[in-house]
Amino acid sequence: SQTILRVEGLSKVFPVSYSVVERVQGRPRRAVRALTEVNLEVRRGETLGIVGESGCGKSTLARCLVRLYDVDSGRIVYDGLEVSGLRGAALRQYNRRVQMVFQDPFSSLNPRMTVGQTLREAILVHRLRKPEQVPGRIRELLELVGLPADAENRLPHEFSGGQRQRIGIARALSVEPETLIADELVSALDVSVQAQVVNLLLKLQEQLHLTVLFVAHDLRLVRHLSHRVAVMYLGRIVELAETERLFTAPAHPYTQALLRAAPELDPSRKSVVEAVKGELPSPLNPPTGCPFHPRCPQAFERCSKEVPALLPRGPEGRWVACHLLEATP
Ligand code: SF4
Ligand code: MG
Repeated sequence: SQTILRVEGLSKVFPVSYSVVERVQGRPRRAVRALTEVNLEVRRGETLGIVGESGCGKSTLARCLVRLYDVDSGRIVYDGLEVSGLRGAALRQYNRRVQMVFQDPFSSLNPRMTVGQTLREAILVHRLRKPEQVPGRIRELLELVGLPADAENRLPHEFSGGQRQRIGIARALSVEPETLIADELVSALDVSVQAQVVNLLLKLQEQLHLTVLFVAHDLRLVRHLSHRVAVMYLGRIVELAETERLFTAPAHPYTQALLRAAPELDPSRKSVVEAVKGELPSPLNPPTGCPFHPRCPQAFERCSKEVPALLPRGPEGRWVACHLLEATP
């Protein structure tokens, strides 16, 4: 199917603040390499899950995609548009087409505006309806996300966490986006509520033909929702595959460890730290060669010297960055 979003060689570095001691000692400035040479293609109408331990760069990637962060190098191309070059009206239009929904919608909803006012404002800013059509559109949006009609006249604090997440989704949908980027959308919710919100997202994705990037650390939810899954480790994508193939036959040693560590997939699980030896290395000082080599049970000499490229492996559209698999046709 057709590619709607293409990321090429995307890198993002955050400078670390410099302490007085470091300055006096004349130490070089340090930086966190949040993303390194990320390549990714997202297909129109698919849900792509993005998983990895916290600190792996998945939120940074999401934020770069909606221009909350500028990128240092590389390209983001959305439906033929070079995203980093967009300014003014063209950027606003892009941000309408590609909407982000956050873990805590409370922080992004104005506490003094009723749900109806919030939705009305979003609809009118983008001139998506005539003023007299707005009340009908608001009712439609509330119904779409499963909120009662009287939600319109209430303030955000009057709702539960799950309902607030529905309000955040309604607001995102009010501007008629093509793509939704959800960063840990349900992580703060109770498990039973998580399932409801995720099922809502599944329904909306099918009904509205949305493209969805679902950034999460919960592998069970990602498996339920995603057509394909990208696995990130220390700012790089290490494996990308169709969801069931990834979960039933993970190819990259890190994906294998991540799945072994997932409580919902294996009740006799180990933590990620136990499943793979050692802690996640600091992105301040990433390992040379394969970023996973200090923890990889299968590492060999070449792994500490050479970064494995993300390459297609096998006939079914899987991509893996690992020297072990290079011989595989
Ligand atoms: Fe392990 Fe080497 Fe593959 Fe990296 S490249 S995952 S260290 S085998
Ligand atoms: Mg995050």
